[in-house]
Amino acid sequence: MIFDYMNRKEWNKVKNFADKHETPFLVIDLEKIKKNYEKLQKFFPYAKQYYAVKANPGNEVIELLRDLGSNFDVASIFELDKVLDLGVSPDRISYGNTIKKSEHVKYAYNKGIRIFATDSESDLRNIAVVAPKSKVFFRILTESSETADWPLSRKFGCHPDMIIDLVILASRLGLEPYGISFHVGSQQHDIGAWDSAISKVKYIFNWLSEHEGIELKMINMGGGFPANYLSKTNTIDVYAREITRYLKEDFSEGLPEIILEPGRSMVGDSGVLVSEVVLISRKARTALVRWVYTDVGKFSGLIETLDESIKYPVYCEKKGETEEVIIAGPTCDSQDIMYENTSYQFPLNLAIGDRLYWLTTGAYTSSYSAIEFNGFPPLKTYFIK
Ligand SMILES: *Cc1c(COP(=O)(O)O)cnc(C)c1O
Repeated sequence: MIFDYMNRKEWNKVKNFADKHETPFLVIDLEKIKKNYEKLQKFFPYAKQYYAVKANPGNEVIELLRDLGSNFDVASIFELDKVLDLGVSPDRISYGNTIKKSEHVKYAYNKGIRIFATDSESDLRNIAVVAPKSKVFFRILTESSETADWPLSRKFGCHPDMIIDLVILASRLGLEPYGISFHVGSQQHDIGAWDSAISKVKYIFNWLSEHEGIELKMINMGGGFPANYLSKTNTIDVYAREITRYLKEDFSEGLPEIILEPGRSMVGDSGVLVSEVVLISRKARTALVRWVYTDVGKFSGLIETLDESIKYPVYCEKKGETEEVIIAGPTCDSQDIMYENTSYQFPLNLAIGDRLYWLTTGAYTSSYSAIEFNGFPPLKTYFIK
């Protein structure tokens, strides 16, 4: 099973390191991130990458991507400071969060940031006041949340007709309306989601060009590209092939500048979260299902198991006859159950103290870990090469 997710050499590297450390912890294989970056470059040769820092804000991750030539998308001034402190110049950073305080826009502007995302009039007016003449890109609402495992659509973006109003306003306010962005939802299974988003972008580009003489220059296609979890997806080369075809069909006269903001697909499969079984129990003499409690849970990095949305592959080394289990975390909170409805099977001889390896946990884990809930320390992260 493990070799569906990594090769033998990668596994040995993680395992050798893990054997020398006490659980729980996350191991990030930086080599994998490098490969993912190179893969994205290869399959989307015409696109500029802006790594979504929130997926894994580890210094080592940012330094690696900095040296590989990546750009960065930040969600707050705190991420901004972090990336700047690591030596990334402000012209390689975009402020992609549409929800931000005016003081924070001003702060970013003073630090040299000149490109901001927006999806509302209030935010746009703030930008115009405190970040004059900046480039802005406008986020459209997408409708593909049912086919994404972790939707990011509904809270962000606005209707294409409203975008048109905002672009015209931006122009009047002295800003540079630069492009259109969307995010089709994280871990998006339906590649067609990009097709409908790109068509909307095309409509906006055309309308503004014909009616207002405004020529937008950029499409930011966000994230949404997959990592390898239990539910299968197409591979990144298939995503790239199809999305490139949609782009070329809609923009046959030549592509505008294309930006990607990969998070999950860049770092997801670089991580293995190593945990230990704390307790195994049955709730009644005749209960058919065993509860397996581990030393990690929803509050120590596994928040994306909410509604069992992200189904991590969980590996244990014991072999033999298996049975279905419920997997839960160590805190005194009854929400701290990772999987109850999804069928996870473990060997009957699984015992207290055995290790469980949560694969593909490089994205959206360490930074989500609570700092002190129930007194448990935050999830420790190690970076290996
Ligand atoms: C979170 C986020 C991303 C990254 O999305 P993934 O699906 O993890 O690749 C990209 N862009 C924006 C604006 C985001 O909020």
